[in-house]
Amino acid sequence: MHEAMLSEKLSGARVRCHICQWRCQIGPERAGVCHMYRNRGGTLYNMNYAQASSVAADPIEKKPLFHFFPASLAFSIGGWGCNFHCQHCQNWEISCPEESEPWRGSRDLPPQTAIELAQRYHCQGIAWTYNEPTVWFEYTLDSAKLAKQHHLYTVYVTNGYITPEALDAIGPYLDAWRVDIKGFSDAFYRNLAKIPRWQGILEVAKRAKEKWRMHVEVVTNIIPTMNDDDQQLEGLARWIRDELGELTPWHVTRFYPHHHLRHLPATPISTLERAYDIGRSAGLKFIYAGNVPGHHSENTVCYSCGKLVVRRFGYQTEVVGLEGSKCKFCGAELNFRTPEGGAKW
Ligand code: SF4
Repeated sequence: MHEAMLSEKLSGARVRCHICQWRCQIGPERAGVCHMYRNRGGTLYNMNYAQASSVAADPIEKKPLFHFFPASLAFSIGGWGCNFHCQHCQNWEISCPEESEPWRGSRDLPPQTAIELAQRYHCQGIAWTYNEPTVWFEYTLDSAKLAKQHHLYTVYVTNGYITPEALDAIGPYLDAWRVDIKGFSDAFYRNLAKIPRWQGILEVAKRAKEKWRMHVEVVTNIIPTMNDDDQQLEGLARWIRDELGELTPWHVTRFYPHHHLRHLPATPISTLERAYDIGRSAGLKFIYAGNVPGHHSENTVCYSCGKLVVRRFGYQTEVVGLEGSKCKFCGAELNFRTPEGGAKW
């Protein structure tokens, strides 16, 4: 149990949490939407500080991050709980602990231990992933500060619903913002995850890039009949181009039936390719079809000279044409972060 960093005391021993954009108002001895912040005697506490559910040394491409330290290993840590309750959650056993059995297999992983393990397993950085990092915000913040002292890069794999003030607290210590923008309509976000004001996700992603100079990549899991219409895909592609820049990677990933959406089919490859074409028409330079090993879009090809820059197959990655963040053949800027290009250290 760890006292929450961004909370506000209200009358009647109630508290308001300012970690994510739900801004839950929590009564005495009650918990917020994520179940991980709880009001104890009029003070807000995080219940899962340093309680890891999952730990692995993953290729950074698995996050997926394709333009950030390619072919490196990220020490990947997941906790418990989520502030979204998506119908198709792939990790619901850890993200919805009230539906499964919480804390079974939980491992105490203080920040210092996480750093030591990352170094022992030859990882170049740390990623908070598998569940939503904001629901153990204080832990990720303490760990990110320590990671920077040890010259490790830091990555949030997130649904992006953090508040601007929480982002500003961790911004100086975070290098990459791998954000899901799951769709592009009120109806979709309400239907999938009961999120009332999803546009806040866009505002925070822009802030991560502009204010904190984070490397940003966007993932959209394309779910048949829910977010696969041209209108949402075009809206999303244009927003990325206009607000994050045409060099921002957009991963359009294949949905597989899961959790409460088992009745839907897997995404046809033709739908992913339509999304790819929509992204290209909007002017995006890097669109990757995900969960389809061997698809031609897995590689990074320079948009200027057409030469292969990074070869990928599944999680096997070979850098063949990069010089810092640029194409080594023609010098075009390709928006890569590499050790030379610099994370925040
Ligand atoms: S982090 Fe949890 S308790 Fe805090 S506002 Fe978000 S959902 Fe509510």
